[in-house]
Amino acid sequence: MLDPKFIRDNLEAIAIAAKNKKFDFNPALFTELYEKRSKCIKETEELRNKRNEGSDAVKKAKSKEERENLVSQMRQMGPLLEEAEKLLREVESDFDKLLLTIPSIPSEDTPIGSSDLDNVEIRKVGEVPNFSFSPKDHIELSRKLGIIDFERGTTIAGSRSYFLLGAGAELERAVHSLALDLLKSRGYKQYTVPVLVRTSAMEGTGYLPGGADQAYYVEKDDMWLVGTSEVPLASYHQNEILEPSQLPVKMCAWSTCFRREAGAAGKDTKGLYRVHQFQKIEQVVICEPNLEKSDKLHAELLKNAEDLLKLLELPYRVVQVCTGDLGQGQVKKNDIETWMPSRNNYGETHSCSSFYDYQARRLKIRTRDENGKNQFCFTLNNTAVATPRVLIPLIENHQTADGRIRIPKALQKYMGGAEFIE
Ligand code: AMP
Repeated sequence: MLDPKFIRDNLEAIAIAAKNKKFDFNPALFTELYEKRSKCIKETEELRNKRNEGSDAVKKAKSKEERENLVSQMRQMGPLLEEAEKLLREVESDFDKLLLTIPSIPSEDTPIGSSDLDNVEIRKVGEVPNFSFSPKDHIELSRKLGIIDFERGTTIAGSRSYFLLGAGAELERAVHSLALDLLKSRGYKQYTVPVLVRTSAMEGTGYLPGGADQAYYVEKDDMWLVGTSEVPLASYHQNEILEPSQLPVKMCAWSTCFRREAGAAGKDTKGLYRVHQFQKIEQVVICEPNLEKSDKLHAELLKNAEDLLKLLELPYRVVQVCTGDLGQGQVKKNDIETWMPSRNNYGETHSCSSFYDYQARRLKIRTRDENGKNQFCFTLNNTAVATPRVLIPLIENHQTADGRIRIPKALQKYMGGAEFIE
């Protein structure tokens, strides 16, 4: 969420940002509601002041007659104030709803573009494999090795579902263990989080109201299944004032993630790439509102993920995400795309985002500046690792001519010392 005064003073910049980010923003509607709200606040305040002055006057009244006169005047004011307060509540509710939909302005270094096709590659790391045999895709390989069962997945849970079994499930757990150990060694505190959350957490992190279609809603209990543990992690300190000495807060969580993938019909329908339920370790940072520090932490979050891919011995590239591929609150974003032989291309495996104070303002996470004044914190997040998607490059890049899968050295200790899945 942006500061309403900032929006009022930067209508044109926000309109341009919204257009570039492909979000709706109606400056005229904002101005109308802003002015209506200001007028209602002023009128309500005036009536409250009058009422307070009236009470003082009643106390100081010199005669019974004067007192009765004043009390009768005040009685008439009661319904007027009630009416004004009711109107103010209605206008504020409309205004707050509108505020929740207004996107942030992308950072200056964000390229302008309309889709992921316009993202800009900033580095490539590792060698794409040059197989001396005809490589198989992860579906065929895993079927032969008996480590993924798509058929039963679909029978039991519908499309985009799967079972990992035996060494497949062990491989997934090994990847997560490696990631959690790496993050722990770098000072990230691990959380086990709720994945069924209230609307306030979804709204606070920016997944509502815009993303309602993408999330599973549990109507009976008015709760949402999260699409990422960013939601509970970033919400953890909602409504709190953090001491500067507590910052930055570095958190991580393993969680199951649920996504409806609405609008993705017909896209990536085969295999593990786009599923409804997956497991992800997310990194979340809350820091003081300082652009330089936020940028440094963004680089740190990115490096954690890149180091992990290096340990997994996977070739990848990092892209600067363009405006049209940014979320509503994201100010800048780098995706990491890992080489997937079956796609003959890099595929997105990680997403590193800076929000500045956009989420913290919605969540009311504050800290104090050097003068003791409250100010909103900045938040950032990045995937550490997400399975089963990262199993695609792991299985496909490390396949051998005889249909086995080489286990990267860093994972072997988590798989009982095994060097191959065979
Ligand atoms: P996001 O939170 O959308 O930036 O996604 C972070 C990462 O989660 C992606 O880079 C993928 O690795 C993974 N991911 C997101 N959506 C899905 C999905 N539907 N199926 C599998 N993995 C996903």
